Amino acid sequence: MRFHVRYLLLALPFLACGTNEPAPAKMTNPLAIASTLPFQAPVFDKLKDSDHEPAIEAGMAKQLTEVEAITANAQPPSFENTIVTMELTGRDLTRASNIFFNLTGSATNDSLQAVKARLMPKLSAHNDAITLNAALFQRVKAVYEGRANAGLDPVQIRLVERYYTRFVRAGALLDDAGKEQLKKLNEEEANLNTRFQDNILKARSAAAVIVENKAELAGLGEEAIAAAAEAAKAKGHEGKWLIELINTTGQPVLASITDRSLRERIHKASTSRNTSGETDNRPIVARLAQLRAQKARLLGFPNWASYVMDDQMAKTPEAALKLLAGLAPNAARNAMAEAAKLQALADQQKAGHRVEAWDWDFYSEQVRKAEYDLDEAALKPYLEFDSVLVNGVLFAAEKLYGLTFKERKDLPVYHPDVRVFDIIDTGGTAIGLFYGDYFARDNKNGGAWMSSFLDQSTLLEQQPVITQNCNYVKPAPGQPCLLSFDDVTTLFHEFGHALHGMLSRQTYPLFSGTNTSTDFVEFPSQINEALATDPAVLANYAKHHKTGEPMPAELIAKMKRANTFNQGYATSEYLASALLDIEWHMLPADAPLVADVDAFERAALKKYGLDNALVPPRYRTSYFSHIWGGGYAANYYAYMWSEVLDADGCAWFQENGGFNRTNGMHFRSTVLSQGGSKEGQQLYRDFTGRAARLEPLLMRRGLN
Ligand SMILES: [Zn+2]
Repeated sequence: MRFHVRYLLLALPFLACGTNEPAPAKMTNPLAIASTLPFQAPVFDKLKDSDHEPAIEAGMAKQLTEVEAITANAQPPSFENTIVTMELTGRDLTRASNIFFNLTGSATNDSLQAVKARLMPKLSAHNDAITLNAALFQRVKAVYEGRANAGLDPVQIRLVERYYTRFVRAGALLDDAGKEQLKKLNEEEANLNTRFQDNILKARSAAAVIVENKAELAGLGEEAIAAAAEAAKAKGHEGKWLIELINTTGQPVLASITDRSLRERIHKASTSRNTSGETDNRPIVARLAQLRAQKARLLGFPNWASYVMDDQMAKTPEAALKLLAGLAPNAARNAMAEAAKLQALADQQKAGHRVEAWDWDFYSEQVRKAEYDLDEAALKPYLEFDSVLVNGVLFAAEKLYGLTFKERKDLPVYHPDVRVFDIIDTGGTAIGLFYGDYFARDNKNGGAWMSSFLDQSTLLEQQPVITQNCNYVKPAPGQPCLLSFDDVTTLFHEFGHALHGMLSRQTYPLFSGTNTSTDFVEFPSQINEALATDPAVLANYAKHHKTGEPMPAELIAKMKRANTFNQGYATSEYLASALLDIEWHMLPADAPLVADVDAFERAALKKYGLDNALVPPRYRTSYFSHIWGGGYAANYYAYMWSEVLDADGCAWFQENGGFNRTNGMHFRSTVLSQGGSKEGQQLYRDFTGRAARLEPLLMRRGLN
């Protein structure tokens, strides 16, 4: 039910893999060769900021040489000498760029950001140099056309088809002028993506709210106030307090701050991000929408959304719109009913004002307490981070899939807070590494995500090296890190992606782990989210951090019931962003540049009845990183699409005896190990024996 950032694709579809390691000319750059540490763990202790750019440049050059060898091959094109050999190219590049992008996401600095700004257009051009290589495409096309009679198994046939489709989607069927035009647009897009993301980082820091007077912080707990004082001190405002913003429109502190003017200040700081001065993202967004439409037209699609969804489970924007727009009226209706309740409460307290967007969380938290008698603060002592991780998330992975995790301290990390675990399978063998980076830092992207340093592939003889990032507020030394239940589900969610990477059993890197369509990939992560409330798992991790006492049964019952609370709001804010994404990406290529981004946003929301000032989009256009800076353009709908699978998949577990080892192993073999080796529809059928039903989702969100 939660939505998190996921940086899996790094926006570069062809950064895949290469041949055997060469004898390196110089040993000075630790990124130029495969690490000799267990599982090729990255050598962070030897890495300098100046190593990345030359290693990635060399990796690109080497891959081009490898590709030339394929096109120069005098033998007729075959599956082995063309497709498999392509899968083996670019290994140095993948290794170096995975490390680089993980670092720029989790522990960046000005120097790395500058390298990134220089590299992004080059990587984009490199990608084009391969996908627009006519000689290579002719070989791929020949294998594609002969695939039925080449003695290939179904996965190999799919691999050939995926290669062919990727080339076609990247413009391989274009004439020379068309290819030139596409290259230019791709370069411009990469530059704009980087500028957008840079602006996000800068504005997030600049929009943090400084509080001069402690009295204004009334309602926040002592711990949160102490953390705000620390944050202020770190930014050179000693003696004041600093409220940092998280990347969504909603800011969790609004639930407890009693000072209405401070709430308003925080809310407005959040919703006006990237709409003024040097970090104004609106001109960037307008051009991005236009140039994507122009790319789509070149590639034979009416708009960018049609181009994107042609390669997804949804197939067309109409199918995605049918799902989202179909849910919007009931979500809006439920949000209105929730708003009426909040207003009644405010009136009852003689607040003397209309409930505004910045009041929503404040009153809804009180309604939650009154109607559900559940105080988030009462839950927190039972949700201590380490217990949630070890006794919850990792425990559940053993319960379902037989995995155990053993922490090791001998491998280098890029920040002292990063933890490393061996992933140990049922038979006792280690099958890969897992890195956890859990605390918020200034130099880290917001939100939570899963990524990898190395993807599993038997062809490449590689085992998975997977990472998970969150942004929990680091407690003062000696204090426990107490989570909200929302934080807990985030941890389970991202770990669901991590499991998809860890349990991959694929030959070809193109099909490894999370390399599935975007509207399928959230399915395993959302299934894992459901484990947070599985009775056996919950009982194992939800213990009081001081006394060790289990969370009282009545508190659990209340917490579960409260899960159905505020769903009108949550669904509406999500749908608003998902529909904004589709509206931006259904603009035709000949539409003029959108001059007024705010007006466009208002009109789009009005069209679906989601223009409720009380329920702003989860991300407004100007700071919607998923679609302008990440790989989620015309893809944000995918969370709801996957949730249909998730809700029905959870129903399957319940109908078949619950979250036990037998069902877990069935899920592992039919879905988690399969990566992208089959279509999403097929994977789902293999798992449940049926197509997904919509009813479980409607029930869950109260939309029926
Ligand atoms: Zn996710």
